[in-house]
Amino acid sequence: MGAAAAAAPLTHMSNIIDGKKIAQELREQVAKQVQKMDRKPGLAVVLVGDDPASRVYVNSKEKACKAAGFYSKKIVLPTDTSQQKLSKQIEQLNQDDQIDGILVQMPLPSHLDEREAILAIDPNKDVDCFHPLNLGELLLQKKAIPMEELLAACTPKGIIRLIQSTGVSLEGKKAVVVGRSHLVGKPVALLLLAENATVEICHSRTQDLAAQCKQADVLVAAVGVPQLITKEMVKPGAVVIDVGINRVDGQLVGDVDFEQVQPVAGHITPVPGGVGPMTIASLLENTLILAKRRSSA
Ligand code: NDP
Repeated sequence: MGAAAAAAPLTHMSNIIDGKKIAQELREQVAKQVQKMDRKPGLAVVLVGDDPASRVYVNSKEKACKAAGFYSKKIVLPTDTSQQKLSKQIEQLNQDDQIDGILVQMPLPSHLDEREAILAIDPNKDVDCFHPLNLGELLLQKKAIPMEELLAACTPKGIIRLIQSTGVSLEGKKAVVVGRSHLVGKPVALLLLAENATVEICHSRTQDLAAQCKQADVLVAAVGVPQLITKEMVKPGAVVIDVGINRVDGQLVGDVDFEQVQPVAGHITPVPGGVGPMTIASLLENTLILAKRRSSA
């Protein structure tokens, strides 16, 4: 095989951001720090009902916790759990000294109020950073805080780390975020802003989405519409972060048409293997941050 032929697949692969590898490195860093601690950081995950996808997420979170040397507690409540019972359970975890982080797996069954559940979590144990107090802190942030000290929602934090892994500076760059959820779109926009990017948030009412996206040096798609982002919408050389997890014919597909966009993008995350693994790694990091804060309080 000639040298050019051998090099071709490598060139083709090289712009793919390996979220699995970057997440694994972060998990190892966290585990190393845990080994040095007097007390294991503790994470409690509360699952209400038996949604199969939620069950898978909760199990993988529990597994990751154990692998990092954390104390982990999984609480599974029946689907018909009342709001009051859920609040009581959360309150018990608020008082539990072994627990540093509490995560209530979303979505909750429809009779339960997610906001009320989030408000029941002690903000000092709010590992997902969904509590208004912690979201407010993020809003008040004037400059970027190092990731290992920053309490921010897990997926947005993972996204920033993936962008940083490319070596592309965000300073002064145009970042376009498609999606404005409080889970991903809004917090990631705040983090990008703290990194001195010029940020635009698009959503379902945005006019000419393609034209907006095309201006982006960094494009984050957090929509939940399979392959919405096509090659015509991407500026050549852009960093493209695909947050979407969509199931199409039994396959996981992102919000970006990967096949089309990969040759145009400077860097791109795959689905699966991009943002997803970073979310769990950031969850571990957030638990560690909360544990450190509690021990120094
Ligand atoms: P939401 O449904 O809460 O928000 C979707 C956003 O996309 C909304 O702001 C909506 O606009 C916007 N939107 C919908 N359709 C369009 C469109 N055609 N054009 C432009 N904008 C549109 O989703 P999430 O933010 O919770 O999640 C987004 C995706 O990311 C999902 O696929 C989810 O599964 C995935 N996800 C992945 C995670 C991971 O770890 N990899 C973690 C969390 C989420 P509007 O506000 O106007 O309705």
